[in-house]
Amino acid sequence: MPIYKAPTRDTRFVLNEVLRLEQYGNLPGFENTGADMVDTVVEECGKFAAEVLAPINLSGDQEGCTRHPDGSVTTPAGFKEAFQLYREAGWGTLAAPQEFGGQGMPHVLGFVVEEFVATANQAWGMYPGLTAGAISAILAKGSPEQQAKYLPRMIAGEWTGTMNLTEPHCGTDLGLIRTRAVPNADGSYAITGTKIFISAGEHDMSENIIHLVLAKTPGAPESSKGISLFIVPKVLVNDDGSLGERNAVSCGSIEHKMGIHGNATCVMNYDGATGWMVGEENKGLAAMFIMMNAARLGVGIQGLAQAEAAYQNAVQYAQDRRQGRALTGPAEPQEKADPLFVHPDVRRMLMDAKAFTEGMRAFYLWGGLLVDLSHKAASEEERQTADDMISLLTPVLKGYGTDKGFDTCVQMQQVFGGHGYIEEWGMSQFVRDARIAQIYEGTNGIQAMDLVGRKLAQNGGRAVQAFFAEVDAACAAAKAQPEQEQLAVQVERANGELKAATMWFMQNGMTQPNNVGAGAHHYMHIMGIVALGLMWLKMGAVAVEAIAGGSADKAFYEAKLVTARYFGQRFTPDAGALRRKLEAGSEAMMELPVEAFLRA
Ligand SMILES: Cc1cc2nc3c(=O)[nH]c(=O)nc-3n(C[C@H](O)[C@H](O)[C@H](O)COP(=O)(O)OP(=O)(O)OC[C@H]3O[C@@H](n4cnc5c(N)ncnc54)[C@H](O)[C@@H]3O)c2cc1C
Repeated sequence: MPIYKAPTRDTRFVLNEVLRLEQYGNLPGFENTGADMVDTVVEECGKFAAEVLAPINLSGDQEGCTRHPDGSVTTPAGFKEAFQLYREAGWGTLAAPQEFGGQGMPHVLGFVVEEFVATANQAWGMYPGLTAGAISAILAKGSPEQQAKYLPRMIAGEWTGTMNLTEPHCGTDLGLIRTRAVPNADGSYAITGTKIFISAGEHDMSENIIHLVLAKTPGAPESSKGISLFIVPKVLVNDDGSLGERNAVSCGSIEHKMGIHGNATCVMNYDGATGWMVGEENKGLAAMFIMMNAARLGVGIQGLAQAEAAYQNAVQYAQDRRQGRALTGPAEPQEKADPLFVHPDVRRMLMDAKAFTEGMRAFYLWGGLLVDLSHKAASEEERQTADDMISLLTPVLKGYGTDKGFDTCVQMQQVFGGHGYIEEWGMSQFVRDARIAQIYEGTNGIQAMDLVGRKLAQNGGRAVQAFFAEVDAACAAAKAQPEQEQLAVQVERANGELKAATMWFMQNGMTQPNNVGAGAHHYMHIMGIVALGLMWLKMGAVAVEAIAGGSADKAFYEAKLVTARYFGQRFTPDAGALRRKLEAGSEAMMELPVEAFLRA
């Protein structure tokens, strides 16, 4: 069975030493985020993920979910019991607001829970993950009555949530939605339509499921401007909070799919189901975006999570498996062959994974802190700055994080040779599970377009300018440290490529929009490289200081500096190549007629 150990030392390093959560002790929710509290949350959650969730990951993949003739769905053995333990431990309540039964702790700690859970068992983690997204939409747009009725039970984990956007003919283009919402006399709506690919749409882990559904009211505009959002509970909730009749919503089938077999991906049929509008009519997409933005960050974390799981197993395998000899002569002459670890090509893959996972962990945790600061920072200006930054970086966290996450899983599978391809070792599951994260919550192509088409130009480019400035400042500071100087120059160069690419879009994108579409994905990756470069500079700075201060954990910090150096050497040069591709524009890409693609 694959191994999993939560990377608690690395997580504590980022939270306590790089982000220094302690410094925010004056902000609401951060009062108790001293190192002791952080360490307790990290260690305990790590234990829960490793001991409760990881052991049912492979079995969940093999067993999958079962739909019964009455439309009910059974999750794999152990899933329900694990959810009960999760509820009892209060992991779902950690970052939820206290007025609805949550613990009110910072989101950045909630993100740690998301990482550990998703690494140990991505399919399982999606049940509480979707619930958290639904909670954030109801919190932001629900009426006080809706909040009081649904949030405490959802936060407590008694009820779970879903998001229902996709229909058979309508995925990315939500303007095409056909599901109808017809007003009833009592203020509710009758919802009719079919939604597909609904994660956690039906299951046996909670007594109720609160579906958030996009639909159109009669006469609504045909475009995405005519979409409203509705709460549609699986079981209707009486005014006193007790459960009433079963609503007219059912699971028509579950998909047979490439991965995340333990998560029920459902076709949901709404047959005049009773629903209640959330927020304003025709403003449903904006409300759903609140949920999607939270979910996009969670999906970015999934990218890292599968890479981390695959990495840990590949590291183990590369120590145990012996093949061939080191190029420099036998490393262990007493044995018939050396461990895989001696081969530079295996090292290349493992170092790529190490540099990505540790850099990405710092990146998403910084993202979590930005979410907190966007709500809780002391001044309006600080809140705005944090909001600008996380809004800019959300598509990068999702798109770059999951592209690289998947690539990393494939490379870690490669470390296993043929044993990575057969199911027995579990590496294939990491690859299969990681793949979906590039697709859902808006494909990565759509993330790239969101970044370049919307986020760059917002408020006159305020956010991207702030990002450039943050990177420049980190480079300038790092140049003063001899250990960091080389990396600072490399990240500065990559940031220069990003600035030049931004300028190129401004000059060549306005009049020729295809140039934007043709280069957006490359741009997202350049920004991902620069963002991870920024993280490595920050981590490196802490490591230099710790070593100079005579830390007892010298080996940990020295490894950080070596990995930072590797990142500078092996990741940052890609920024230049990506920029050159981007600047090639769309001409050759768009020139051929469709017929030219067809084989004669
Ligand atoms: C396992 C699984 C779970 C899912 N869970 C949920 C869920 O819980 N709730 C939910 O509502 N949905 C869910 N989805 C649906 C998922 O979000 C969609 O599959 C995704 O948004 C893409 O839509 P589509 O599949 O229709 O692809 P399409 O929209 O048809 O896109 C096909 C391709 O064209 C590209 N493309 C489309 N439009 C554009 C454009 N304007 N510009 C550039 N490129 C474009 C896309 O990037 C993609 O590469 C899930 C899907 C899967 C497979």
